[in-house]
Amino acid sequence: MPTLTPLIDAFGRVHTNLRVSVTDRCNIRCFYCMPAENVQFKPRHELLTFEEIECVVRVAAHLGVNKLRLTGGEPLVRHGLPVLVRKLASIPGIADIALTTNGVLLAEQAQQLKDAGLHRLNISLDSLDPETFFRISRREGLDRVLAGIAAAKRVGFEKIKLNAVAIRGLTEPDIVPLSRFAREQGLEMRFIEFMPLDAEGNWDNEQVLSGEQIRAVLEAEFGQLVAAERDDPSQPATDYHFADGGGSIGFINPVTQPFCASCNRLRLTAEGQIRNCLFSTEEWDAREILREGGSDAELAELFRASVGAKRAGHGINSDEFLRPERAMYQIGG
Ligand code: SAM
Ligand code: SF4
Repeated sequence: MPTLTPLIDAFGRVHTNLRVSVTDRCNIRCFYCMPAENVQFKPRHELLTFEEIECVVRVAAHLGVNKLRLTGGEPLVRHGLPVLVRKLASIPGIADIALTTNGVLLAEQAQQLKDAGLHRLNISLDSLDPETFFRISRREGLDRVLAGIAAAKRVGFEKIKLNAVAIRGLTEPDIVPLSRFAREQGLEMRFIEFMPLDAEGNWDNEQVLSGEQIRAVLEAEFGQLVAAERDDPSQPATDYHFADGGGSIGFINPVTQPFCASCNRLRLTAEGQIRNCLFSTEEWDAREILREGGSDAELAELFRASVGAKRAGHGINSDEFLRPERAMYQIGG
């Protein structure tokens, strides 16, 4: 298949970035993402096989997609993930493959992932305090996450990012310890605003601890942060450096400072639906094409249809905002 016209939407945004969810399952139960109990996971046969994911990504690469992020659910609970990484890394045009993980199973898999060709890692960690970790994730596991971070460094991953969802009234005491830890460990700390994608539908604007509020807490502790140059405008984080040069902090502020105008991301859910936005209420069915003997050209048209329907922004702050039916773990964060 030759390189095709790029995926440009009605607002001129060129889509080069695909987030691939490999499972809706997870080994912990963060309250901002999953229900506490009785989660209805998709049966195995509904999930795309590695070969099917590879096929979709190959078509996406012909349409100009060059960056992938594997996510979920928890991607490391999908058996044999390094095999998928290796397949995707060999697709011409794919220049960068990243993984977002809660880190619980990372110590066991870091070396294989590195060997398979994974380029970058984001590890989610909201608190270094075992009690807060448990309140958020409703499971034990902090020690394993810390072991996962150590293993990732040991096997040679560079520029590892640590992602923390910030919750007002809960994680204010974690801002400084997490940032200090990241600085000491040579990791890039990033704080993410809580979005209305929790499975239990409890999200409330009052729980959003904004990036600006976090920055104020950090500046009170570490002194003024220095804005970093923005070399990739589609990058969702606004980055700062500590004034002494020791590390950087990023803020992902989808609620208080939406970055939709520069969004270049598409998503593929674990069961093979293309989404043009986390908050999309519509999906485009790639699995049906794959399983009914459809062609690469049909998959390419599906991508185009999805991109063509992309709205200007998510509209979280507007009166017309509709929460998507699916929660974060079902979409792929
Ligand atoms: N299980 C992996 C993990 O937690 O890193 C990957 C999937 S998770 C859905 C991807 C990212 O989305 C994580 O950093 C998580 O903290 C974040 N996330 C989940 N629900 C969120 C929400 N309601 N608002 C903001 N970020 C959220
Ligand atoms: Fe699992 Fe990640 Fe969702 Fe937490 S945010 S429940 S680790 S999928």
